[in-house]
Amino acid sequence: MEGARQVRSPRGSTLTARSWSTEAPLRMLQNNLDPEVAERPDDLVVYGGTGRAARDWRSFDAMVRTLTTLGPEETMIVQSGRPVGVLQTHEWAPRVLIANSNLVADWATWPEFRRLERLGLTMYGQMTAGSWIYIGTQGIVQGTYETFAAVAEKRFGGTLAGTLTLTGGCGGMGGAQPLAVTLNGGACLIVDVDPSRLQRRAHHRYLDEIADDLDSAVDVALRAKQDHRAWSVGVVGNAASIFPELVRRGVEIDIVTDQTSAHDPLSYLPEDVGLDDWHDYAETKPEEFTERARASMAKQVRAMVEFGDHGAEVFDYGNSIRDEARKAGYDRAFDFPGFVPAYIRPLFCEGRGPFRWVALSGDPADIAVTDRAVLDLFPDNRRLHTWITGAQRRIAFQGLPARICWLGQGERDKAGLAFNDLVASGKITAPIVIGRDHLDTGSVASPYRETEGMIDGSDAIADWPLLNALVNTASGATWVSIHHGGGVGIGRSQHAGQVTVADGTPLAAQKLARVLTNDPAMGIIRHVDAGYDLAEDTAAAQDIRIPMQEGWAATR
Ligand code: NAD
Repeated sequence: MEGARQVRSPRGSTLTARSWSTEAPLRMLQNNLDPEVAERPDDLVVYGGTGRAARDWRSFDAMVRTLTTLGPEETMIVQSGRPVGVLQTHEWAPRVLIANSNLVADWATWPEFRRLERLGLTMYGQMTAGSWIYIGTQGIVQGTYETFAAVAEKRFGGTLAGTLTLTGGCGGMGGAQPLAVTLNGGACLIVDVDPSRLQRRAHHRYLDEIADDLDSAVDVALRAKQDHRAWSVGVVGNAASIFPELVRRGVEIDIVTDQTSAHDPLSYLPEDVGLDDWHDYAETKPEEFTERARASMAKQVRAMVEFGDHGAEVFDYGNSIRDEARKAGYDRAFDFPGFVPAYIRPLFCEGRGPFRWVALSGDPADIAVTDRAVLDLFPDNRRLHTWITGAQRRIAFQGLPARICWLGQGERDKAGLAFNDLVASGKITAPIVIGRDHLDTGSVASPYRETEGMIDGSDAIADWPLLNALVNTASGATWVSIHHGGGVGIGRSQHAGQVTVADGTPLAAQKLARVLTNDPAMGIIRHVDAGYDLAEDTAAAQDIRIPMQEGWAATR
């Protein structure tokens, strides 16, 4: 078969590959491209602007073919979405090793990346797009929920009730924002240039309503704020025009952020460019388009800074919009912080991060069983209980049923082993895959996001995610990936992913115990090394050895 077509993962408990350790990546690759999951499946784009699951359709077909026949002691090697070899390994080795979008430092620029992409030599892997563990917008809802909960904790007495949040970008990731705000009790006004994006989120009940124009959107949002009602409203428009307009009108907004695809200037629509002209213009004149996009981002960021000047809580939500605005010459772009140093780092110091799992059976009842298991395992974790029960009510599955919740060191392995037991006992009808976002405690170096403002200044040290991938490979993960770029763009981050199968066997239990202990442990180690006391406490409580704090080294 040639070219674009509809892809959907097989369901049920019958293998189409030779073992569950190859069936799992096979199903997850196809699941990433399920039209319910992917933003532009015909172009193999899963989310985040141009984050792809495979380089081209020929490569996709070759990966499906190879995974279907791959043996239990073989490993498929994937270079930026193309399967380039199969090597003899062993049963503890990953069945797939992936490297996406990596470039040698001096060449790591968007123009060079695009030149190579045009030559068919690379693809953009984002984080979970090219590593086959994207689970639709749900994947980000929990992290977004946690972030807004932390904002509520820091500024608004633990709830967003009575506050109004303004944000931009209602795409694959950004679409989680309205729901995350309302789950925290707040009102949300979200701006997107593309009506179909707003409609999609409204269809999935992540967004409550779409207004006809800015005036009525502002009315609805302010009324919800006054009434302390959790409600979200979307409006079609360009954030570069609407943000400054709202500043001009003096609308009382409490929290301001943005998740347009600013990390890639070709994925941000400049002011005065029509939606229909976007992709042709970006493709034919990328330099000119980039300049105009950056100028528009500078206008948007200037408005964000002005909201901050008037007392709003303002943060960069991981899309590099501050750096793009700086490149356009706006010198106050970094006057507001990134969300990780502002809210997330303490969680990272406890090894907490976006643990997620998928039922390969396709049966939602299997996820219900795992939900119960997680609630039983951690009965005292109130935030987790609020999340899981809220998610059960509000979150529609996209593609294979999945769940996400943030778990910490000492919790992830417990959950993984419990799931493996449930598969072994037949209470779950087919294996579960367990992975995570690359935005995690020990898996990323990203000076404008996850590692911004590290206390020892080690923001740009990229050894950590590379070590993380090596550790997961050595610990028995089923597939491991090393990516460059991700959510913040080329030249700005290095990160790694792992996915491990719980197929109910004793071997899977051994692998899960190691991977789900060692993977977050790399985050504790990274934060201990940087000098965070909370990470030191976690390492001590979880018996993680830190050589520099032992014996002779510790006395120096
Ligand atoms: P996406 O491409 O699916 O969606 C981006 C949306 O922005 C689209 O709906 C697009 O129409 C809209 N948009 C573009 N230009 C606009 C403009 N000028 N005004 C208003 N709307 C505009 O991307 P996504 O997956 O939602 O990711 C959004 C951004 O967030 C990316 O930069 C991504 O890298 C970043 N991200 C952050 C995190 C995080 O943890 N905070 C996680 C993943 C992604």
